Amino acid sequence: MIGQGQVPVIILKEGTQRSKGQDAQKNNIMAAGIVADTIKSTLGPKGMDKMLVDSLGDILISNDGATLLDEIDVQHPAAKMIVQVAKAQDMETGDGTTSSVVITGELLKKGADLLDKKIHASLIVEGYKAASKKAQEILENLAKTLEPFQEDNNLLFQIAITSLHSKSVHAAKELMAKIAVDSVKKVADIEEDTYVVDLDNIKILQKTGKSLVDSKLIEGVIVDKEVVHTSMPKTVKDAKILLLNQNIEVQKGEWDREIRINDPLEMKSFLDNEEQILQEMVDQIVASGANVVVCQKGIDDMAQYFMAKENILAIRRVKKSDMEKLTRATGGKIVTNLKDASAEDLGSAGVVEEIKIADDDHVFIRKCKNPKSVSIILYGATKYVTDEAERSLHDALSVVRNVVEDKTYLPGGGAIFTELSLKINEFADEFKDKRQLAVKSFADALLSIPSTLAENAGIDPLDILNELRAAHAEGKAYHGIDLFQNGKITDMLEVGIIEPLRVVSQAIKSASESSILILRIDDVIIARSERPAMPPGGMPPGMGGMGGMPPGMM
Ligand code: ADP
Ligand code: MG
Repeated sequence: MIGQGQVPVIILKEGTQRSKGQDAQKNNIMAAGIVADTIKSTLGPKGMDKMLVDSLGDILISNDGATLLDEIDVQHPAAKMIVQVAKAQDMETGDGTTSSVVITGELLKKGADLLDKKIHASLIVEGYKAASKKAQEILENLAKTLEPFQEDNNLLFQIAITSLHSKSVHAAKELMAKIAVDSVKKVADIEEDTYVVDLDNIKILQKTGKSLVDSKLIEGVIVDKEVVHTSMPKTVKDAKILLLNQNIEVQKGEWDREIRINDPLEMKSFLDNEEQILQEMVDQIVASGANVVVCQKGIDDMAQYFMAKENILAIRRVKKSDMEKLTRATGGKIVTNLKDASAEDLGSAGVVEEIKIADDDHVFIRKCKNPKSVSIILYGATKYVTDEAERSLHDALSVVRNVVEDKTYLPGGGAIFTELSLKINEFADEFKDKRQLAVKSFADALLSIPSTLAENAGIDPLDILNELRAAHAEGKAYHGIDLFQNGKITDMLEVGIIEPLRVVSQAIKSASESSILILRIDDVIIARSERPAMPPGGMPPGMGGMGGMPPGMM
């Protein structure tokens, strides 16, 4: 309280919101919990999709955790942190986003119960940290290994299929899984005795028309552009490709000044001059030895005509990302000034040809110097279908990449979480103080995965958990729920429900880190949002000097 004659100490700006202690903790936990609950129902093969409609009326149908959270406009700071969990999970592993958020939500709920029991947040945090570390150790021990290029493909295929089980690509699941495995294997690079997979070398092209089962994998790069001039060749074998980032046009700037021409002869020479500049540019292309030009910018009509006469195939306004793919695939360098173009800069490919896909012309660059570049054409009846198919394929490609790079995988269907829960519960007994309760809560929180998988399939989670626990107590560490056999508890390795260690490990890591972060917060200060805009070079009205009313104290 402010005593008489004392001047109030003003720290926070007017309108700042602040909540402290238990209030802040409870608020944060509640907000994060709401976000987790929102996407919980999408988990697993029997999870539902969500339809989001944005302020412009655009529709998104998905059951992908990261995509959904990205679209939902979350306001609360703690809820925003949950969105970050999903993003991090997606960035690191490409799958497991819903799982990581569900676990975070559960860790926070259990954390709130512990706070209610008057256990201090710092003890909860310590318990969670210890449990999370232990979990990583147990995971490493339980993980199975594979040699991606030695054993038969089946394991990689099963890993891809498991990630697709929970997607709406139904009919095309097998095909998608096969495409994912084949393309990752094609682009994998060997470095010492490990593989490195850069998913940027896989281009996905969506096409509406036909159906998902017509989708296919094509070696090489497909550019979504047509050959610029009708008299250019439609196919070039032994292509020498110039990748150009410059207009093949006469620079506009040169004509910006006013030019007065009185004499018709002068006019002719003026146009001839323009023609000559273009001809020189084309001559430079010819001199470099190129027979294909892939241009990131524009190509003048006249230049197109000159190039056609030289039997050069050209495409223009090619996307930057495609240019980059082409540098990798063809071994060419991007030239920014035609004057510098030389034979050394050219890329090479066995064949460049124009091919129609679903009524649109595309240029295929195949049999490239470096074959580690592939394209996938995804067909689907509507854009909603192809959009969700691309997201699903992204997950499948990512899980295959993870396993090719790490060579480790684990059983799915809640098996690993049940086993972890059991082991961490035993580990809890090593603690003789209140941290024991936190470690036990952590163990319980992990059961949210099998329990949600069952719940989303309309199966009583309590029954399932009892059965699962009983199986694991008997040492059946890889037993999980097979939701394609009505929730039968069985060995996940046998039925091929498997997923990368990287996905599970990261999900637990990010869930515990972010719940710890949220639990440690006991003071939330939110600045007033509708602050008057700062006029250029000055203070907003009412903020200068000492003239304002003192803000209310909190
Ligand atoms: P996430 O965003 O976390 O990847 P998903 O909706 O993709 O969420 O669901 C993944 C979960 O579904 C994993 O725990 C995986 O083991 C499980 N799963 C996949 N296929 C099956 C199946 N046939 N039976 C039971 N669980 C499955
Ligand atoms: Mg998934």
